[in-house]
Amino acid sequence: MTMDNAHGGSISSLDSLATRLSLTDDELKWREDGLTVPLLIPEYYFALIDSSDPADPLRRQVVPTRFENIPDVGEDSDPQQERSYSVTARLIHRYRNRVAFLVTDLCPMYCRHCFRRRFTGKTVGPATDTEIETAAAYIGDHLEIKEILLTGGDLLTLSDTRLERMIAIFRRYRPDLVMRLCTRTPASWPQRITDDLISVFKRNFTAPYYLMTQFNHPKELTTRSVAAVAKFVDAGIPAMNQTVLLRGVNDDADVLEELCDRLVASRIKPYYLFQGDLVTGTAHFRVPLEEGLRLEQELRRRLSGLAMPVYAVDLPQGGGKVPLSHCYLQGRDADGAWLFSTPDGELRRYPDPEVAAKHKVSETT
Ligand code: SF4
Repeated sequence: MTMDNAHGGSISSLDSLATRLSLTDDELKWREDGLTVPLLIPEYYFALIDSSDPADPLRRQVVPTRFENIPDVGEDSDPQQERSYSVTARLIHRYRNRVAFLVTDLCPMYCRHCFRRRFTGKTVGPATDTEIETAAAYIGDHLEIKEILLTGGDLLTLSDTRLERMIAIFRRYRPDLVMRLCTRTPASWPQRITDDLISVFKRNFTAPYYLMTQFNHPKELTTRSVAAVAKFVDAGIPAMNQTVLLRGVNDDADVLEELCDRLVASRIKPYYLFQGDLVTGTAHFRVPLEEGLRLEQELRRRLSGLAMPVYAVDLPQGGGKVPLSHCYLQGRDADGAWLFSTPDGELRRYPDPEVAAKHKVSETT
């Protein structure tokens, strides 16, 4: 199955979108330029949008606005400096033990908040066999690499045949390599996930796969999308979700609580909640950090450990990912015991066994 024959149609221009939705002024004034991603909304996803609501959270993720054409201070088209960490045409080696491979720049749907817009949707197309071989050979020479993120773009825009050829090449060099399948397709185009597709992974199962999804709002968790993920999970491929914290989409404790609870009930582990990257033209999506920290604290009160994602920020200038949380550790008291605030703001004392023992000895001598 390929994108062309199975997409079920999609909307790809402002003019055609205007015949289906009553566009706002801000939406009508969007201009596609080198820094934006193209407009592409699959019919499946479009049907989930409430056309009478200009603030619909799914509409905000896929219908462009003029704010994308306004760069903000501190923004960059490549805030994680992936270009400087590229070791081959498509391979990024930023962390010692894992690499990211840019399978293709194409996606079934383009998200207005996409952090990799320097590459995404530029119609470069899938990696060639030579590019895959070169990347696989690099990984074959670097045994410290334990995991590969197959990303882009969206790897599930590849045909089953092409996908299998790529996986087989990587497996030939490194059968032990853990593969993360980074895809938004279960949310944007779940019809793509067929038994034939799952067989591609089953036939090449020499090491674990992890499905890395991106569901940002409970409305995206439809019966179809949940069934699509279930195919992976039933095949022994665990599903982990990475949500992007987005202004006007999910910057609300009730929405995030419902999303995380429903993900767990759908056998998808909420993994990360990402603070928006400093990508050019996305300031209107970014939630102030202070507000994000408040949301994290509220979620910790409401959610189980299983349902709680790690709130994290990918630091600019390629600084890497760091977790963000309200500071629960408050310091130490005069006896050396640790002082914590509970999620409800109360104070608790934790006497460290070693310190307490030392304290006892000094009292008796
Ligand atoms: S699916 Fe991923 S790569 Fe594609 S536009 Fe959305 S965020 Fe970007």
